[in-house]
Amino acid sequence: MNETDFAALVAATKETLQRVADQFAPAVFASSLAAEDQVLTDMILRSKLPITIFTLETGRLHAETLAVLDRIKETYGYDVELYRPQPEAVEAYVKQNGLNAFYESVDMRKECCRIRKVEPLNRALQGKRAWVTGQRRAQSSTRAELHVQEQDEAHDMVKFNPLADWSEEDVWHYIRSNNVPYNVLHDRGFPSIGCEPCTRAIQPGEDVRAGRWWWENPESKECGLHVVDGKLIRIKPVSTTA
Ligand code: SF4
Repeated sequence: MNETDFAALVAATKETLQRVADQFAPAVFASSLAAEDQVLTDMILRSKLPITIFTLETGRLHAETLAVLDRIKETYGYDVELYRPQPEAVEAYVKQNGLNAFYESVDMRKECCRIRKVEPLNRALQGKRAWVTGQRRAQSSTRAELHVQEQDEAHDMVKFNPLADWSEEDVWHYIRSNNVPYNVLHDRGFPSIGCEPCTRAIQPGEDVRAGRWWWENPESKECGLHVVDGKLIRIKPVSTTA
């Protein structure tokens, strides 16, 4: 992509975020503190948009991922809101199944994601009109149908994926050009980063999400944040002029 096209892509993304702030307040951005999320964090905070940024602190994140919170504070003076799982739910799961039972079956893994991610996400989205994610279409087969604006039927609100059209190269071009702080694990072979026990580095040429839940087949690789009852929840693409 040449610089003119890239500038247009950035401008369109900023316009989307501005529209979220203007027309869908109160809106929140669910950041996983990955490279894509840092692009959106930079745009939101530099433009001082009233979109609250939060992350799901599952209790199983890498220290390097948690360090991104400090980098955001240093760079922008902003405290990302943290949503943690209900302690009693974690305790019951671990007591009954063990700390790392998610390796045993997809159901066990989804139950862990439900407790540590889905329930806290639902809490974070309560009372909001729209939420923003850093998902990109090119990230995996499960995201091939992603749209910039969608109706999230499960949460009964609008969901924005402003980077849906961005390539990985675009993300890194923005990060380098704007000196955006990022998770150092990206420099160590982790293009996609989740919880520490469920993420591994990938080899050159592997799918970018191959390191997530690597013991499962690609179709089951979503954490439930974007899937309900086994179906992706981005059912209805919405006109971007709405
Ligand atoms: S990614 Fe792994 S550790 Fe994190 S919530 Fe899901 S199953 Fe649990």
